[in-house]
Formats: sequence, C-alpha cells, structure tokens
Amino acid sequence: MNAGKTAIVTGGASGIGAGIVTRLRADGYNVAILDLNPSADDDFAYKADVTDPDEIAAAVSSIRSKLGPITVLVNGAGMEKYRRFQNLDFEQWERIIDINLHGVFHGVQAVLPDMMEAGWGRIVNISSSSTHSGQPFMSAYVAAKSAVNGLTKSLALELGPHGITVNAVPPGFIDTPMLRRSEEKQLLGGTIEEHAQRTPVRRVGLPSDIAAAVAFLVSEDAGYITGQILGVNGGRNT
Ligand code: NAP
Repeated sequence: MNAGKTAIVTGGASGIGAGIVTRLRADGYNVAILDLNPSADDDFAYKADVTDPDEIAAAVSSIRSKLGPITVLVNGAGMEKYRRFQNLDFEQWERIIDINLHGVFHGVQAVLPDMMEAGWGRIVNISSSSTHSGQPFMSAYVAAKSAVNGLTKSLALELGPHGITVNAVPPGFIDTPMLRRSEEKQLLGGTIEEHAQRTPVRRVGLPSDIAAAVAFLVSEDAGYITGQILGVNGGRNT
C-alpha cells in the first residue's frame, strides 16, 4: 500500500529521525534524508541545513527527479539549547528558532506543491514534550516547539480540503545522541536511568517508539486524524 510513496525525513541521520527512516523504509516507502551530516553510505541522504531554503529546494528537486513527487514529510531536524534566559543573547535565540521553527516552514513550503498536485499528503512535525509544561533554561527551544504545535493545527485546517493531514508528535525522553549529550553535561537533573524509574512505563523511550506513532500518522488509516498533538512519552506528560 505504501510502495511507491516518497517520504522525506529531516534530521534523519541520527536518533529519532534515523528511527523513523528505518521504520518507513521497512513499511515500503522510498525515504530520503535531509541532514547536516548525512552518511555517505546512504544513496538517498542529502546534506542540507533546514534553515537554508535554497539547500532544501536543491535537495528536494534532486529527490523528486530520482524518487518521484514527495507526499510524506517528517520534520525531525531539531536542536536544543540550555541557557539561563538572562544569559541568552538574541543571536542564540534566533538560531534556535531558525532551526526548530523556520526549518519546518521551509520543509513544508518545499514539498507542498507535490502534495497539492497529488491531492494527498502527510506531514508530521516532531515537537517536544517540553511544550506541555515549559522547561527552565530552554526558553528558545520551548517557544519554537510550541509554535510548531500551533503551526501544525493551523496547517491542518488549511490543508485538510486538499487531502493533506498535518499532525505533531512531541517526544518525551527518548534515548538518542541528543539526550545522551544532555546527560553527560548533567543537564537532566539526574541520570536517564533515574528518570526511567520515575516514568510511568518504567523505561526510557526509544526512537522506534516515535517511529511507530509517525508510521501510523502517515498511513492511509490515519486519514481522518489531523491537527493532533500525539504525545509519545511513556506517560510522563498526561
Ligand atoms: P539528534 O540525535 O541530535 O538528531 C537530530 C538530527 O537533526 C541530527 O542528525 C542533527 O544533525 C540534525 N539537525 C540539527 N540541526 C539541523 C539543521 N539545521 N538542518 C538539518 N539537520 C539538522 O536528536 P534527537 O533526540 O533524535 O531529536 C530529534 C527531534 O526530536 C528533534 O527535533 C528534537 O528537538 C526532538 N525531541 C527529542 C527528544 C528526546 O528525548 N530525544 C525530546 C523532545 C524532542 P547534527 O547531529 O549534525 O547536528
């Protein structure tokens, strides 16, 4: 059923994005990756910074000519920044908003013509569980990810009549290089294992947990689900 559909996963070279790429390929999609440092071994991995619309357009054009129109987009590229608000300068604020929010804008703009033409599309934005409650020292990141949730809802209303669904998955505490880096810098307020013991399902999340939710949301079966924010967090945020 999915064979022949072409998907792009931004941030697909690492962590959650890589888990989504593996799952969607197993489900039969042609999946291309857009990332800052893609693997040279992957024939469909393209180097592109999501903050640069020209780089995205060039990669999308190449993907379209090799794999056909893009009708599935997963915006997974993201970067966090821990800094006390009074020490956060505007340049740092702008960079985090640029990657986490404007990156989604550029990604959707680049593939929307294909989805409109097909009269069918699936967009999933990876936001963050930090948007449920806020997070100290992560103001720029949480502001950007909260905006992604709002953008998701607005786009769902605007694009629904064109057969395109738009949903967000805010992950909570997923074992990835990003989370490990935060643990190493002692930014988590405890180890990952200690957090896992306080999580209702008693384990840390895996990229495959997020991938399972994304695989459902991009499927034909999820055609009546749009504008939703589907938390995947082991019950940490209810
Ligand atoms: P990760 O392992 O660091 O993966 C993020 C990927 O995005 C990396 O390959 C990174 O490239 C790429 N990237 C960063 N900036 C980019 C840019 N400007 N253009 C293109 N690619 C870019 O992190 P992750 O934990 O899997 O995170 C994936 C997504 O989930 C992010 O949006 C993150 O905010 C979100 N999230 C994760 C968690 C969690 O618990 N892990 C929780 C909430 C939300 P480089 O490695 O080269 O920088």
